[in-house]
Amino acid sequence: MINEQTTHQTTSETMGLAMNQTDLDDANVNPSSFLPDYHVQSPEVQARFEKLYQRKVILEIKNLVKHFDTQQGKVLALNNINFDIYRREFVCVIGPSGCGKSTLSRILAGLESYDGGTVLLEGQPVDGPSRDRGMVFQGYTLFPWRTVKQNVMFGLEMSGKGGFAAEQSALQWLDLIGLSSFADAYPHQLSGGMKQRVAIARALVNEPRILLMDEPFGALDAQTRCKMQKHLLEIWRNIDITILFVTHDLDEAILLADRILVLKAHPGEVQEIIEVPVPRPRSERQLTSPEFIATRIRLDQLIHGSTHDEAESEPLTPTFARLTNVEDNVE
Ligand code: ADP
Ligand code: MG
Repeated sequence: MINEQTTHQTTSETMGLAMNQTDLDDANVNPSSFLPDYHVQSPEVQARFEKLYQRKVILEIKNLVKHFDTQQGKVLALNNINFDIYRREFVCVIGPSGCGKSTLSRILAGLESYDGGTVLLEGQPVDGPSRDRGMVFQGYTLFPWRTVKQNVMFGLEMSGKGGFAAEQSALQWLDLIGLSSFADAYPHQLSGGMKQRVAIARALVNEPRILLMDEPFGALDAQTRCKMQKHLLEIWRNIDITILFVTHDLDEAILLADRILVLKAHPGEVQEIIEVPVPRPRSERQLTSPEFIATRIRLDQLIHGSTHDEAESEPLTPTFARLTNVEDNVE
């Protein structure tokens, strides 16, 4: 997390200004006025986007509409979503709870129907699950009775590829994700991060065209999550895969994505599509770069700006009765 203080310090340091926190407070300076506009891209970032847009569109989402019938009536989960994803692009989907992120990823996976619009993967309508789309969701979905290797082989077996060849592919993938020595272990013997690595290998062993990930690292501790982000970027760099990654973590989205699809809730609609101005290769050191902070501030405005409505009547800091007789104050 970037706190406000980091923002102030980093901004002034990066801008080569000899201002500290007190100066900024005294001058009543808004730190964002020191930051570049999040639309501003360095020539190398611009060149990367030009290259990206020359690639083939792999996934087309046109006028997508999805309702759910609930006891409270019809819920418009997704309203008129339009978005194209380019081959080998890394797209993050972000938005407040209930904005339709999971519904969108389930529709793309073919696990959920939709009421209007079209979804095309390489020109073919998406109307059910298929090998060309791999999935990794938050809950650990490994089969507990199967070994790591057998879990990875599962996808291949489902598409009729068993035996020695399947075993060799599984072992190759375990090697790539650094879990060869755990091939014969069972899921309960693995850490959370390892389980998600196996889930990624299991999704990729089928050589899908697109990998759909719905908050895959949401249950991991911060350090493991950071390692997994690096690991995923490394895999993405090395194979021909397009990734759609749902998260509610702003830093994670900026760290991973080429573009961020920002949704708003009630109804779920596209609020903005952000081209991330942070150069690649990415690392956590960039969390404090001006373009990273500028993008984060924009995401924060878009997401928290829209969710504050419900909480508006609630005071942000509740008033507590003082329960101590100690005289000196702690702050
Ligand atoms: P997110 O993943 O962004 O939190 P979801 O895609 O889970 O959002 O949900 C979007 C909206 O659709 C929410 O209002 C949610 O209550 C509703 N919804 C999702 N799944 C169902 C369902 N199976 N039945 C009824 N309503 C649903
Ligand atoms: Mg969700």
